[in-house]
Amino acid sequence: MNTDCLFCKIAARELPGQIIYEDAETLAFLDINPVNPGHALVIPKKHSADVFEIDDKDWIAVMRASRIVAHALEKALKTDGINLGMNNRAGAGQVVFHAHVHVMPRFAGDPHSLWPGKPYAEGEFAKTADKIRSALT
Ligand code: AMP
Ligand code: ZN
Repeated sequence: MNTDCLFCKIAARELPGQIIYEDAETLAFLDINPVNPGHALVIPKKHSADVFEIDDKDWIAVMRASRIVAHALEKALKTDGINLGMNNRAGAGQVVFHAHVHVMPRFAGDPHSLWPGKPYAEGEFAKTADKIRSALT
């Protein structure tokens, strides 16, 4: 446990949270500022900062729990869809530095979307893919 970490404190029950799901590795609770009611956060119980730091075991557990929570939100809230999201590092809008996946209920006509995206500038499509492939080798 990281004693300065808000989500570690929720996992340790030192701070209150609307916990909706728990297993050996993960915990899910409601976001206090939801994009829609039911917006949940799924965290590893063991502290890690983000997608770069979390180990494979916890990552797999968080993915599994996110899907369980998605099913529950669909069933309980009659959602029209669910977005999964994760902000990693301040540059991506992360403000709580304990890894968490947002499971966000969506309803027809609500305004939350990053999409549609915009097309690449001339020549940038293949160049971007090349750069990423190089990083993977
Ligand atoms: P981010 O780090 O940008 O992915 O977002 C952190 C999320 O945590 C935000 O959506 C906040 O509304 C949420 N949040 C912050 N404090 C709490 C809390 N005490 N309980 C539940 N959710 C929280
Ligand atoms: Zn933590």
